[in-house]
Amino acid sequence: MNRKYRKTVIAGNWKMNMTASEIKPFIEQLKENMPKTRACDVVLCTPAVMIPAMIKAGKEVKVAAGGQDVSKYEKGAYTGEVSATQLADIGTKYCIVGHSERRQYHHEDDMLVNAKARALLEKGIAPIICVGESLEQREAGVTMEYVAYQVKAALNGIDATQLRRCIIAYEPIWAIGTGKTATAEQAQEVCEGIRAVIRKIYGARPARAVSILYGGSMNAKNAAELLAQPDIDGGLIGGASLKPVDFATIIAASNQ
Ligand code: PEP
Repeated sequence: MNRKYRKTVIAGNWKMNMTASEIKPFIEQLKENMPKTRACDVVLCTPAVMIPAMIKAGKEVKVAAGGQDVSKYEKGAYTGEVSATQLADIGTKYCIVGHSERRQYHHEDDMLVNAKARALLEKGIAPIICVGESLEQREAGVTMEYVAYQVKAALNGIDATQLRRCIIAYEPIWAIGTGKTATAEQAQEVCEGIRAVIRKIYGARPARAVSILYGGSMNAKNAAELLAQPDIDGGLIGGASLKPVDFATIIAASNQ
């Protein structure tokens, strides 16, 4: 982390878990376990139907609500989709795009991820843009080339002013939901590489100001070491964000 230049963000990704009625008790437990002061922004990304309940319950403890996906279209005959306008209208501040589960199960490609990020930016929502390599790519030694390509593609057409709202989440696919965490060195190396890619496109100042998160089995035990890395500005957390005590411990770890 480097608080002098950028925000620390601890974001939970609840995926398709929990219900709206479970939010209030979750937030109460989180509050009981959360440090009195904190130096990070906290976000919980839920299914779209649960966002209003998260906004309501999260207000008191300053937990923002995020979405997990958005349509690239502004409106129209796209049954089942949720637009950036609709997310913004209910007060959504953040939204994940390009999560590897969407890339894998819904065949989302880099161009679509870019279109979704741009749709969110148009409506003032901060995209949390996920990138990351597969195990095969890591073993083949092409991690940085692949991630650099994903970052460039996701940011295509996004100007330096819009970049200020973007958050990049480095999530090696092999570490998501597997219990296998990247070592702090591996995570730092790629996050540093991502910042270098952004520097090449936008210059030193904008690159220095972008928050880059690590995601992939981050938990109450390993968070402090990961968050101590200079280019890791927070976490995108799946499993551990469903446990209020663990999530509060990760938030506390970001106070270092
Ligand atoms: C994720 O879903 O983005 C994630 C990182 O999950 P987990 O923490 O469970 O690996």
